[in-house]
Amino acid sequence: MRHRLTPEQYADGIRQGDRLLLSRAITLVESRRADDQALAQAVLGRILPDAGKAIRVGITGVPGVGKSTFIESFGTHLTQLGHKLAVLAIDPTSQRSGGSLLGDKTRMETLSMNPSAYIRPSPAGDSLGGVAHHTRETMLLCEAAGFDVILVETVGVGQSETVVHGLVDFFLLLMLAGAGDELQGMKRGIMELADGLAITKADGDNVPLARRAQLDYANALHLFPPTGTGWSPPVLTCSALSGEGIPLLWQTIVDHQRQMQQNGVFLQRRQEQQLTWFRALLRHQLDSRFYNQSGMREQLAALEAQIRQGTLLPVAAVQVLLASE
Ligand code: GDP
Repeated sequence: MRHRLTPEQYADGIRQGDRLLLSRAITLVESRRADDQALAQAVLGRILPDAGKAIRVGITGVPGVGKSTFIESFGTHLTQLGHKLAVLAIDPTSQRSGGSLLGDKTRMETLSMNPSAYIRPSPAGDSLGGVAHHTRETMLLCEAAGFDVILVETVGVGQSETVVHGLVDFFLLLMLAGAGDELQGMKRGIMELADGLAITKADGDNVPLARRAQLDYANALHLFPPTGTGWSPPVLTCSALSGEGIPLLWQTIVDHQRQMQQNGVFLQRRQEQQLTWFRALLRHQLDSRFYNQSGMREQLAALEAQIRQGTLLPVAAVQVLLASE
């Protein structure tokens, strides 16, 4: 069995930028074992004063939009500017495939060999809520280890965008030019969450198409209600291959950060995120405490049978359960 370190040893190592200890602490955070969880919480409690200082950027877009290629290029640019970058992934699909799609090291070969970058794939076999919770704690550990930019990547399907939006300071939506129906349906809701849009693959023959899409999306965004933060999400174009537009995109994120810090929205957003996290955790704990009571499963089954037969009203069943708690 592996020698067990104390919370202090973990915290000191993480603060000194020890990657091995950082990775081991993240593994503790992701573990379901009660002793691992207790240790993880003790470590988190110690590193908390050193966390929170990074710019947190969420990146989403449909598969094929060029996320991993973009993160390679964008991340390399950031490290050239002297930043230390952690790339985390929220990938609820990994529970089905059994392995992680996003943040996969083989998808970001250059970045994974860059000493200023740290890539951590999504934990497999977790629910979306679980992944979000672990990613939040992982983010804190990375910040304490000195990473000053955190990229949280998610695949543009389903609910994960909302979750990522709840974790970050700037939410970037990558879009493909010429995918006409993206303005409709689900995408609209995601567009409303975005702090900025970038049309990817704006290179070669694709440039005119990308410019056209830039105009279309800018017009579409004008129709959205104002964000109430004094920030109008810009639409940019970029190419991960040529590097065109990448520096401007980073500058936009920096400008957003400065502006939101000045008008107080930055702090407000982080405080809201903390509260949301707290409420979700509390709900989760109450749920598990309630359902894990001894005999609860049998009692529920019996009550549900009566409800099904119409001999007991749902309200009465709830009262029975709560009274016996
Ligand atoms: P993901 O599924 O969103 O992570 O997308 P990938 O990064 O795997 O890219 C999907 C495809 O688009 C790949 O074949 C890439 O080579 C291509 N691609 C990504 N970025 C660019 C770009 O900036 N320009 C061009 N021309 N192709 C790109």
